[in-house]
This record gives sequence, C-alpha cells and structure tokens, in this order.
Amino acid sequence: MDHALRRTRLIDRAAELDLDGLYITRGPNVRYLTGFTGSNAQALVGGVGSVFFTDGRYEEQSRHEVADLDRRIYLDGSPPVAETASQLRVRRLGFESGGVTYRQWERLRDALEGIEIVPVDGAVEALRRRKDKDEIALIDAAQGCADVAFEQVIMGDGLRAGITERELALDLELAMRRAGADDTAFVTIAAFGEHAAEPHHHPTDRPLRGGDVVKIDFGALAAGYHSDMTRTVAFGDPGPRLCEIRDVVAAAQGAGIAAVRPGASAAEVDRAARSVIEEAGYGSSFPHGLGHGVGLEIHEAPFLRWDLDDALEPGMVVTIEPGVYIPGLGGVRIEDMVEVTADGRRPLPRSNKELRLS
Ligand code: ZN
Ligand code: ZN
Repeated sequence: MDHALRRTRLIDRAAELDLDGLYITRGPNVRYLTGFTGSNAQALVGGVGSVFFTDGRYEEQSRHEVADLDRRIYLDGSPPVAETASQLRVRRLGFESGGVTYRQWERLRDALEGIEIVPVDGAVEALRRRKDKDEIALIDAAQGCADVAFEQVIMGDGLRAGITERELALDLELAMRRAGADDTAFVTIAAFGEHAAEPHHHPTDRPLRGGDVVKIDFGALAAGYHSDMTRTVAFGDPGPRLCEIRDVVAAAQGAGIAAVRPGASAAEVDRAARSVIEEAGYGSSFPHGLGHGVGLEIHEAPFLRWDLDDALEPGMVVTIEPGVYIPGLGGVRIEDMVEVTADGRRPLPRSNKELRLS
C-alpha cells in the first residue's frame, strides 16, 4: 500500500480547495492515509509535512505501522493540532465535517484561534472510491471467506428443519472466522420465510420450516477490508409466487451487473435493474438503492441510486443488490460485489445464486 502516494493525492486536492492542510479524524481515512490499524488516531496532512497523532496505548504499534511519518503521542485526550498546524505553517486548515462531533468542533475552533478552519466533506472518501490492485486483492480475500462459509454451511448440511435464524447466522460467522476473517463485516442477516420481507431483518429464534425462503446477507472483514453478499435459497418448495419473484430479482440483478462499466452513471445502473422489477409489477416492493461501494467501510462511495449521477470508474467495487419484499409472504434479494474493470466488470463472489440448491 503506497500511503505516501495517497497523501500526495490528498494534498493536491487540498490545494485545489485553497487549503494548506487537512486534519483527518475518521478512522478508515486515517488508516487509508497512514496504514495505522488501531482504534484511535488522527493525522494532519499538509504540503509542508504530515504528522500522525495517537494516544499512549498505540505508541509501540504505530512505531511499526506508521514508521514513515512524524508521530506525536498524546496522553491528555486531545492531539496537539494547534501547535502542529503552526509548525507546518498551516493558515487555512480543512477538517472532516463528517468526522467530528459538535463538541469536538467547538474544541477545535477554540484551540485553533488564528487559523481558519474549513469544513471539507468526503475528500479522502473520494480518493477511496477507486481501489488499487492491493485493495482489490484484499476485498477478494474477504469475499473468499464468505464463499467458503456459503459452501460449508449453506451448500453443506447447515440448512435443516428447526435451526433458528440466530444459529444459522452464527454458523456462517464461525465459518468465515475459521476461513481467516478477522471479524464479520456487519451484523449477519438471516431471515426465514415471512421475515425475508424485511430488507434488514435481525436474526431471531424463529426456526426453519419446510417451504421457507432463507435470505442471508453476510460478509467478512479481513485485513481492514469488507465483503458483502446476499443469497436467497429455498428450503423445500416456497410456492409459485416467491419462485416468480426470485426470477424477476435474478433478471434485475443480471441487468444491473451487465450495466456496470466505466462511464456508466449510478442512476443508469440503478435503472437497468429497477426497470426489470417495475416491468414485472413489483416496483413499489424494491424500496432501496441498487448498491454501494465496499472497501475499508461496508457502505462507502460510490452509491448506486436513481437520484445520483456519479460515473463509474475502473477500480471501483460496488454491490448490485436488487430485492423484492412482500409483507406476510417473504422476499428475495441477490447481492454480489462487482469490480469495475477497464472494459466492463468482474463479479467477485463464487457462490451459487440458484434459489433451489438441489
Ligand atoms: Zn449485503
Ligand atoms: Zn450491500
């Protein structure tokens, strides 16, 4: 990971905004710019120089992880931003408007008297939209853990009458951990039967019964990168309506994936999938955007939604996840991460997408 190159790109962006430096406080952004993996750190990135801040717990860890930066360890709860900013001759300092609480902003304002502070939205997130080769490999590795879990649990004997949503979610999580994941990417969704009508159902003690659909949305966190995949499979015969809905969602997902290419807009890709669902009469049953970027955060830019016109670029990794949800009956969502390549797209998961596994 070339953290210095990333900082250079950020400094270029800061210069465009007429800033001498940017104060970075969002954890994933600090990690992206410095390589630091601990839970508390900040960075002041400027044209004259960059400084990394963390507290006493991380002195030793940061010595290894952030060896190439001037590091300041603070023990009193707040990084010495003011003194560092004046050493770096910063007169106009950007801060992450999405990365400070109101109270932190007040403190910053008071501490930085004499330095103009300017809210900046999404500067590092914009750089993070396009992944480099190393990042893509890490996202692939995280997805690999989820593929192993799907193979072992879902394609194995993990679906059996009486197992609860909570148990199935735990089985998937354990399998991902055994496959090398550091953690889950988010709280695993396992929804049986009528519960599948909730897009983000939280697993309960409901047992699996014949005729249920099983909707699972899960992912692994490995080396800081996330994966995200949804599958909907049948346990027994879910009946003709859910089979029809599954075919509609699968066709929509295929159309969405096919629309992914450099230059395509978020709205265009959303439309490609959504129009399939609308034409089948289920438009009002697809109440969310088509997808989102995945990387150091589970949901990050770019977002694929009908009202956004961001253009896709090679190196982006986005999910394509249409769904149809019918209260009282159930629902179907199919989700894959897709890499935008120079000439089109590459879906990352290897897991089966069929409704019926046998
Ligand atoms: Zn998901
Ligand atoms: Zn997702």
